[in-house]
Amino acid sequence: MSLQGIRQLDLEFGPDRVRRNVVLAPYTTFKIGGPTDIFFEALTVDELERSIRIARATNLNYFLLGVGANILVGDRGFRGLVIRNCARGISVDAVNGLLRAESGAIFYPDVIEAAVSAGLQGIEHYVGIPSTVGGALWQNLHFLSPPPERERTMFIEEVLESAELLTEEGDRITAGVDYFNFGYDYSILHDRRDVVLTASFRLTPGSVEQMRHTIEANLEWRAERHPPLDSEPSAGSIFQKIEGMGAGRLIDQAGLKGTRIGGAEITRRHANIMINRGGATAADVLALIFLAQQAVREKFGVELRPEISFIGDFDPPSGKESRRTEDDEPD
Ligand SMILES: Cc1cc2nc3c(=O)[nH]c(=O)nc-3n(C[C@H](O)[C@H](O)[C@H](O)COP(=O)(O)OP(=O)(O)OC[C@H]3O[C@@H](n4cnc5c(N)ncnc54)[C@H](O)[C@@H]3O)c2cc1C
Repeated sequence: MSLQGIRQLDLEFGPDRVRRNVVLAPYTTFKIGGPTDIFFEALTVDELERSIRIARATNLNYFLLGVGANILVGDRGFRGLVIRNCARGISVDAVNGLLRAESGAIFYPDVIEAAVSAGLQGIEHYVGIPSTVGGALWQNLHFLSPPPERERTMFIEEVLESAELLTEEGDRITAGVDYFNFGYDYSILHDRRDVVLTASFRLTPGSVEQMRHTIEANLEWRAERHPPLDSEPSAGSIFQKIEGMGAGRLIDQAGLKGTRIGGAEITRRHANIMINRGGATAADVLALIFLAQQAVREKFGVELRPEISFIGDFDPPSGKESRRTEDDEPD
């Protein structure tokens, strides 16, 4: 590990803020994951940029963490530096329909509330999804269009105006939407180590009442179908969408809803979501992922590909036996 990098972070931000041996589980929505060697919370865009530049200049292995809603951190943790992005400033120019947010801003409620209370529409659909602005661009955040039609999937790229980036090469640029090469669950950020510093969204004036209606309806939709994060931690959908079939439907038809390995369970609410029943390890989740992949491969000849990212060092999948939960009624 780069001791020079750690020393430089200590000097730049003070040793109290450059923490050692911090367990990552509480910083993820799955509540799973071992310790990182070094942990730093960037409170401003400037701190984010400086810490990234130090890590790069000193060859200190680093990972940029949002709210940890799309990752599984290994039980052995992360060797190097985790920078948690807490740069959360938001400003709204209601006259010109522009909302600018720092990349660590929390999408819901903070960014959405700022837009809605200024009478600007275009991002209210994404209520209830745990995400920072940076994470939203990384994955091209998406959700169904408003009720009653819900006829299509809407993507964050549709309202992105531009973003300030610290590029892989170390330049600071303003990138337009085309730069991101957005797709389903994809942006160029998967393939380049660019860092989103801020993002500007182009929104349109709208009825606050109508937006509140969409917000309520979408929260209700989620509550009916998804496990509640506070009591049933998860990372959302585990596997990528399979056009025309649905990864969840295949897992369900393979008879795996309610299957548990250790503390990890394929929830009965939604077969593409695994939850931490308490004390789940990354090895339990890995074992459940392999089990689902194997069952769907054997039954349907289809390969399930994980949508989440695997961060840090992993133990082998746990050898604990799988079992169906008894406390839930079968469908
Ligand atoms: C209960 C639940 C429901 C969900 N529902 C949906 C849904 O309906 N639609 C949907 O699209 N997703 C959904 N997700 C997935 C998740 O919310 C999104 O992928 C979200 O955008 C992740 O953001 P994050 O801040 O947690 O990123 P993290 O998980 O912390 O990081 C994900 C990746 O983004 C990178 N990253 C983070 N910030 C930056 C930055 N500033 N610059 C460059 N790279 C960065 C990280 O390095 C990492 O590689 C759901 C997840 C959960 C837990």
